Amino acid sequence: MGRRFSLPTSSPRKASCKIRGMAQTVFRSGYVSIIGRPNVGKSTLLNLIVGAKIAIITDKPQTTRNRILGIKNLPEAQAIFLDTPGIHKPPKLMNKIMVKTAMQATSGMDIIIFLTQVQRKVHPQDIFILKCLCRAKCPVLLAINKCDLLPKHPEIDIENITQRYQSLLDFRETFHISALENRNVDALLESVIGLLPEGPMYYPQETVTDLSEEFILAEIVREKLMMLTQQELPYSTGVVVESIEEQEKGDQTLVRIHATIYVERSSQKIIVIGKNGQMLKRAGTLARKDMETMLGLHVFLKLFVKVRERWTENKTILKRMGL
Ligand code: GDP
Ligand code: MG
Repeated sequence: MGRRFSLPTSSPRKASCKIRGMAQTVFRSGYVSIIGRPNVGKSTLLNLIVGAKIAIITDKPQTTRNRILGIKNLPEAQAIFLDTPGIHKPPKLMNKIMVKTAMQATSGMDIIIFLTQVQRKVHPQDIFILKCLCRAKCPVLLAINKCDLLPKHPEIDIENITQRYQSLLDFRETFHISALENRNVDALLESVIGLLPEGPMYYPQETVTDLSEEFILAEIVREKLMMLTQQELPYSTGVVVESIEEQEKGDQTLVRIHATIYVERSSQKIIVIGKNGQMLKRAGTLARKDMETMLGLHVFLKLFVKVRERWTENKTILKRMGL
């Protein structure tokens, strides 16, 4: 692992040009979409590249609901990343929105990273996605994630599986990476930057995301709930941040955050609250700590749990969640 397979099929754009005898580096910018089925590590990769916690990570598939914009700022380039929900068969309104978002994420892109993971065979869902990607008008890179697991799985022939993927789509380049252990991600990023077109800085350099603070805070709460609840709380757990208020306390600033957790059934409410409220308390504590790190301020977090039957089909709630 760790080596690149194919070299770019066309020569990369010139890295610099000469202006009045001076070597002037060209500024590159553009949109990069990370596409892959649920759970392959898209959010992990995005957070690693951007260097901030933007996308939530869980070991349950389909936790990413939005198009998440993460921005990698370099002196010579700005790459704007989208973390897409998995492309799959949509059973509900919310899932329809998710799939639509995912498909939209392929158009207007400068580069697509197709992300998959170490596995024995080409996954059927990958075949479906690659069929969609065949129509893409921009370079598509193949990244096979979770290569840190290879030593534990000698039965997996990574060379063979890579060739199988390459036979399904004409990838510009191929990478074997581990987003978890930060292996070979630099090489992937380098290739992405090299493929970006010449362009302006779209966002101020310190920007890492265009998501609202409310949305990121809500995602933190949702991540903790997904992580802590052993039972499946599929798409039926949603979080809305109702208010964020800053309060001066002596020479310290306290941020009061109120959030509502929506579930679909009272049985789910029982799971979220837990025995003697322990689950909600633990999720709240973990979320508060992450929020304090993110905001650099003391946080008072109040969580409510509400049962709203079929909230995943309620457009008002979805809108408040930023979907
Ligand atoms: P997404 O659904 O594609 O966004 O996937 P996530 O980023 O949420 O990751 C799904 C799970 O895979 C989480 O438990 C991650 O910790 C795990 N994961 C992500 N990248 C790697 C990796 O490189 N190696 C291993 N072993 N696990 C990973
Ligand atoms: Mg994700």
